[in-house]
Amino acid sequence: MDAQRLTEVLKGLLSQFEKNETKLTNLDREIGDGDHGVNMLRGFKAVDEKLTGDTVPDILKSCGMTLMSAVGGASGPLYGFSFVKMSQVAEEEITKENIGKLINEFAEAVKARGKVEGGEKTMYDVLKPVSEAIQAGNIPTSAELQQFAEDTKDIEATKGRAAYFKEKSKGVVDPGAQSAVYILDALLEEVR
Ligand code: ADP
Ligand code: MG
Ligand code: MG
Repeated sequence: MDAQRLTEVLKGLLSQFEKNETKLTNLDREIGDGDHGVNMLRGFKAVDEKLTGDTVPDILKSCGMTLMSAVGGASGPLYGFSFVKMSQVAEEEITKENIGKLINEFAEAVKARGKVEGGEKTMYDVLKPVSEAIQAGNIPTSAELQQFAEDTKDIEATKGRAAYFKEKSKGVVDPGAQSAVYILDALLEEVR
């Protein structure tokens, strides 16, 4: 994936978040404050309008800065920071061989910024196993990505707003885990 294609892919996420706004909002209504769909849509509307850069690293950085400034809530700074961190390890093109390094950085950024270890019912519970799968040489399919999000259902949340719901947070997919599936699927599709 070169710079031009990355621009298309990141801008293309707008239609994915338009399509899934209600789904994300409904999940966040159950175990949060019901704004995750709106937050992600606002973020990728801004990306669609403002994304700049002629190189892969510059585009990733622009995406991160845009998400940080456009999205309120926990997810904006987490995704924003992650894209900025990815820009620092990105090469001229994103390939099957180097995407593992990028996704590892994505996961590590959320881990550091969110102070999570895994098993707390957050987006990291999708990012971590996906990063591990890629390091092991497997690019997860869309169905496998979705399964990682579904697996967050069984977890009782201990981070973010969902933690206030304690055991009632069980049985619901974490909204950020679901939005992470859309972002990862768009990036991984380019190297499948
Ligand atoms: P807010 O909770 O502030 O309304 P959003 O609804 O946009 O923000 O995002 C909620 C999502 O953010 C959660 O579903 C979870 O995946 C993620 N999240 C929240 N806190 C953390 C954290 N400390 N570490 C990692 N992810 C987190
Ligand atoms: Mg919310
Ligand atoms: Mg909120």
